[in-house]
Amino acid sequence: MKYWLVIITFISSYTFSQEKIFDSYHQLMGVDFIISIVCSDSIKASQEISFAVEETRRIEKIISSWDKESQTSEINLNAGSIPVQVDTELFELIKRSIKISELTDGAFDVTVGPLIDLWKVSLSNQIIPTKTLINQALLLVNYQFIKLNDENQTVYLEKKGMKLGFGAIGKGYVAELIKEELIQRGIKAGMISAGGDLVVWGNHPQKQHWSIGIADPDKKGDLIGYVRLNENAIVTSGNYEKFIEIDGERYTHIINPTTGQTVKGLKSVSVICPNAELADALATACFVLGLEEGIELINKLDGIEALFIDTENNIQTTNTFNYDKSH
Ligand code: ADP
Ligand code: MG
Repeated sequence: MKYWLVIITFISSYTFSQEKIFDSYHQLMGVDFIISIVCSDSIKASQEISFAVEETRRIEKIISSWDKESQTSEINLNAGSIPVQVDTELFELIKRSIKISELTDGAFDVTVGPLIDLWKVSLSNQIIPTKTLINQALLLVNYQFIKLNDENQTVYLEKKGMKLGFGAIGKGYVAELIKEELIQRGIKAGMISAGGDLVVWGNHPQKQHWSIGIADPDKKGDLIGYVRLNENAIVTSGNYEKFIEIDGERYTHIINPTTGQTVKGLKSVSVICPNAELADALATACFVLGLEEGIELINKLDGIEALFIDTENNIQTTNTFNYDKSH
């Protein structure tokens, strides 16, 4: 009896020790991607990584608002003119985006494009846009102006000049989708980081959890702490990577769709949530909502946690967010 136990233990630990993490680094969607797959076979791992890269490229071709050929651009070009029939995945993404706008009281809004363009052009010329221009752009920003037709699967933007953009949800969407597809293809564990929008699933081969760093908004490459994740995503929105300074004032790339102003008051918000897409959208929304409203919203959502860093470097978390200061 004892003899058999020894053999069984030996076999299982042997199989276990064969599992390795295969890491790969890519430039996709304009950011650094890391695709890590836990697998015992290097050929299978590289096939799955190629699949994930191809899938990301395929999705980017649909959701990019930069790519003039994309379905998203087609919707935008036909704003105020005609409804556009789109693939189910884009249709569903827009539907979910609208739901998140409702959940966040419009803090997250995929129609914020005209404001983004206005701020981008102005700031690149070291100018702050005038109230008049902001008000003009605001007339084109409202998720309620997106009209979906379930039967024909069409999307119609009611006003000419409206523009959909998935900058605040697209990377989370792709990370979540790739994770799900890899699970279906038999990959039991892994990690995907889409420019820092990160999701893990399954068991880390050496540890009981995945230990993920939270960036220090003041020092590139430094971390303020670590979270232990299992079957979860963590996404951070911040003002420390993409911004322009004019007269010592920092203007970030996240815009309040209600006021039309760039957001101030926080350095970063990190959201932990089982779904990477929702984590991405909520991180942006919380950045817009600010400390108090952001914490209030996240505390109401089951299984979702957040950490906020304000401009004075105060750290505040929702009720259940736990992190270690060191490894
Ligand atoms: P990043 O993509 O830099 O990690 P976010 O996920 O917060 O950060 O997304 C920011 C991008 O989303 C901006 O560059 C812009 O394209 C778009 N955006 C800005 N403000 C909003 C908003 N309030 N709602 C939806 N999208 C936004
Ligand atoms: Mg986001």
